[in-house]
Amino acid sequence: MGTVIFAATKQAAISNYTSILNNPIEYLKGVGPLRGDLLKKELNIFTFADLLNHFPYRHLDKTKINLVKEISHQTEYAQVAGKLISKEIIGEKRSRRLVAQLKDNTGSIELVWFQGINWVDKLLEIGGLYLAFGKTSFFMSSPQLTHPEIEVYTKEKSEGKSFLEPVYPTTEKLKAKGLGARQIGKLTFALFAHIEERDLAENLPATIVAQYKFMPRRQAYLQLHFPSGAENYQQALQRLKFEELFITQVRLGLVRLQRHRYSKGVVFEQVGDLFNNFYKNHLPFQLTGAQKRVLKEIRNDTAHGRQMNRLLQGDVGSGKTIVALLCMLLAADNGYQACLMAPTEILATQHYKGISELLKEMPVTVRLLTGSTKKKERNQLLQQLQEGSLHFLIGTHALIEETVQFKNLGFAIVDEQHRFGVAQRARLWKKATPPPHVLVMTATPIPRTLAMTAYGDLDYSVIDELPPGRIPITTVHRYEHARASVLDFVRSEIDKGRQAYIIFPLIEESEKLDYENLMRGYENVKAFFAEPKYWISMVHGRQDAATKETNMQRFVKGDTQIMVSTTVIEVGVNVPNATVMVIESTEKFGLSQLHQLRGRVGRGAEKSFCILLTAPQPTKEAKERINILCSTNDGFKVAEKDLELRGPGEIEGTRQSGALNFKLASLVQDSQLLQTAKNTAEVLINEDPELNSADNLPLKQYLQQQKGKTAWSKIS
Ligand code: ADP
Ligand code: MG
Repeated sequence: MGTVIFAATKQAAISNYTSILNNPIEYLKGVGPLRGDLLKKELNIFTFADLLNHFPYRHLDKTKINLVKEISHQTEYAQVAGKLISKEIIGEKRSRRLVAQLKDNTGSIELVWFQGINWVDKLLEIGGLYLAFGKTSFFMSSPQLTHPEIEVYTKEKSEGKSFLEPVYPTTEKLKAKGLGARQIGKLTFALFAHIEERDLAENLPATIVAQYKFMPRRQAYLQLHFPSGAENYQQALQRLKFEELFITQVRLGLVRLQRHRYSKGVVFEQVGDLFNNFYKNHLPFQLTGAQKRVLKEIRNDTAHGRQMNRLLQGDVGSGKTIVALLCMLLAADNGYQACLMAPTEILATQHYKGISELLKEMPVTVRLLTGSTKKKERNQLLQQLQEGSLHFLIGTHALIEETVQFKNLGFAIVDEQHRFGVAQRARLWKKATPPPHVLVMTATPIPRTLAMTAYGDLDYSVIDELPPGRIPITTVHRYEHARASVLDFVRSEIDKGRQAYIIFPLIEESEKLDYENLMRGYENVKAFFAEPKYWISMVHGRQDAATKETNMQRFVKGDTQIMVSTTVIEVGVNVPNATVMVIESTEKFGLSQLHQLRGRVGRGAEKSFCILLTAPQPTKEAKERINILCSTNDGFKVAEKDLELRGPGEIEGTRQSGALNFKLASLVQDSQLLQTAKNTAEVLINEDPELNSADNLPLKQYLQQQKGKTAWSKIS
């Protein structure tokens, strides 16, 4: 879908002014072709603007002079002013060094140079006054500065530098070419001399600048690089973070608005007999408040002739399937077909069975299409689909193949969205004109801040309530040497008539070692739970679909009490009688994956347990993940923690999203600011969707200039 945000409006005049910020980086004095190439390769700095947006990660306070006696192990950098009382060159070969003593009124500090010895030696005069700045270290409990910067100390220098000195991210290769963490600042400083007000023209509406008392944009950039004090730095940072978040939210809001305005969709005029009949007579339980709310949101979306593109999030077991089914019935009531796509054959089959069962007294036809559907059946099914006598099609990605043609697809549901690529989902759209309404369901809770950004261009619903009567799962951590007692516990549960999962890591299905571990684990479990009293199923990625299915079904039916498996059962599998989840080598799993796995139990009326096994000394990170899981069952809390621990780039389901690459803002620390930016953007778009007011013109121009520079995710 194109995003011609301003198509309907007359183009705002863009001035002919070409900012020097667009200049290639090698044109900057002190850079040149060689360093220029390196800056491009190492830091992605291609233009002056890129350099300006390469921000320091810390600052050194050279505005302050440290007294020698105040220097402690906590003093990372020190600046000392004093008299040079001695200097000598000592040591041989590699330990040859120049050692000097600088003394102030409180004590003396040693200065050491290993390189450029002769040059520094010439510079220093015993009895002279000097200012030395460097990283502190301690030798035999007295302080040292190694390779300090040194200069003659004069009266005006006694006030120190007028700004904090920036320290930049850099690389070894750049350092070797004289562009170390602090030298980059010299380039940036030189650049600033050429930057005019209009090169960094205000891009926020004046009312917003006034409302939040933001400093002007050029000043904010200057203060962020070369702050004249901590307070100014914070203000600059706040302004530029807001700008970053706000601009993103405005873009996302405009894309959403655009879609709402121009994307034609089928109209579902009525809630008809199928829906109502099912709701009254066949719904096996009362819907939760959250389920009802989401249904209303979807109903509302589909009634007005615009295409719905909605993301539905709900923790494992929150009851997304029934919502999907009700949507399908809504489509059928209006004469449209519907489909449900799941990421694995096991899941598709499970959905098919569950839904067929629920619909068995209803006048609708449901069929299953997967990679293992036999040719004859498949041909028949495809024909029915084209004629329209088949109403609901459930399946795997086999659904999006070219040969699958609907008569009139009106509603497409994608379960567990993160398993599908963006391109795959987009192919669903093309199965009908106008495109079907799309509901993407995910059980990987995404923190609110992340969702606001990663999915800001989608409509978004959350089921934030579990069906009533669920007994919380108890999660514990055990070491592998206690495995026997864990298996004893598993046995006691099985003897009560329950079932258990034992999960082994097999991240890459082809990894030989993991595979061998799984087999050894299986033998181990088999030895502990001997046939014929106990039966075990095993499912892993190297089995063909039919074997997987048979083994799975034996467990679902209760013919086997134990399921030994890899993560292929991670999503969606529903066996309410299973009450124990044992996870082997927990340290090899990610947090959200562990939460997903845990979600396989706790689905029935009985109390459930999740036991996380690790080697005796799990890493700090693994221990942290385990502690989180032991302390909460709430998927959203787990997701928040995951975001804190790993950062947004690593959160499942959002990896392709360019919208998360903020330079300054953090989705963890700045969630408050993000909320403010989002609200502000919403108000603005509501009031002036074309950004035509004089106040909003700078913003509009800025967005036009930046067009195509920011990529963000299109989910479907
Ligand atoms: P998920 O959101 O993980 O896909 P499911 O749709 O598989 O969850 O639902 C989990 C279980 O909860 C199923 O057994 C389903 O029948 C049941 N369930 C769903 N909604 C309700 C409800 N409102 N009341 C009671 N049980 C429900
Ligand atoms: Mg599900």
